[in-house]
Amino acid sequence: MPIHSILVSRKQCRLAPGHCVLTFDDGPAGKVTDDLLAVLHEFGVKACFCLVGCQVTIRPEQTRAIANAGHLLANHTFHHRFVDLWDFERFRLDLACCDQAVCEAVGETCHPLRWFRPPFGLVTAAVREIARTRRILPVTHFVIDPWLRSDRAKRPAKWIVEDAKRREGGIYVLHDGLVISEISPSARDSPGRCWIPIVVKEILRELTTAGFQFPDPSQVFQAD
Ligand SMILES: [Zn+2]
Repeated sequence: MPIHSILVSRKQCRLAPGHCVLTFDDGPAGKVTDDLLAVLHEFGVKACFCLVGCQVTIRPEQTRAIANAGHLLANHTFHHRFVDLWDFERFRLDLACCDQAVCEAVGETCHPLRWFRPPFGLVTAAVREIARTRRILPVTHFVIDPWLRSDRAKRPAKWIVEDAKRREGGIYVLHDGLVISEISPSARDSPGRCWIPIVVKEILRELTTAGFQFPDPSQVFQAD
C-alpha cells in the first residue's frame, strides 16, 4: 500500500519567504494548551490547532478559548487511531465525529472543518479519497517532539529556528497534546509536555527578532 507523507515544500504550499506557521497537534491538552495560548497571545501570533475530537469533548471550554483567540482549528480525527487510516468509511466517520465535537464545543451547527490532518501524517488511500473533498493541512518540516520527554536543551526550538533560517520559513508541527492510542490508551496532559510553551516562546523570540513573520493561518491556508 503506498504511503506518502503530508510533507510539502514552502513553495509548493505557496508560503511567502520569511513566513512561518506553527501548528499544534493532539490537543486541546489542558494546562500545556493554556500556557501555549498565553505565549501566542504575548507575541500576537495566530497558530493552527489540529484538534482531536475525544480531547475536545473533555475540554469544550478550552476548545472555545482557542477559537475565540482567533486560531485556526483543523480536524485531526476523533480517536486518532492508526487502524482508521486504512478504511475509507471508518476514517470518514471519525472525521465527522471530530467535526461534530468541535462544532458543539464552539456553539456552531455541525459542518466539516475545512482542513484536516491525518494522524501520524500518513496519507493512505482512504486519506487521499477524503482529500478530494477537504484539504490536508500541510507541513514543511516535521519535528519529532512526542518522544522528547522533558527537553531542557530546547532541541525542537533549535531545529525549527535553523530550518526556518535555512529555508526562509515554513510550516511546523509540535504537539501540545499526546494521543498515542496504539501505545497507551492516552497520555494526555502529561507533565512531559510542559516544556512545549517554553520552546514555542524561544522559537517566537528568535524568529521574530530575525525578522520572520507569523501570518494568520486562516489567511495562509485558503482553499482554492
Ligand atoms: Zn496526532
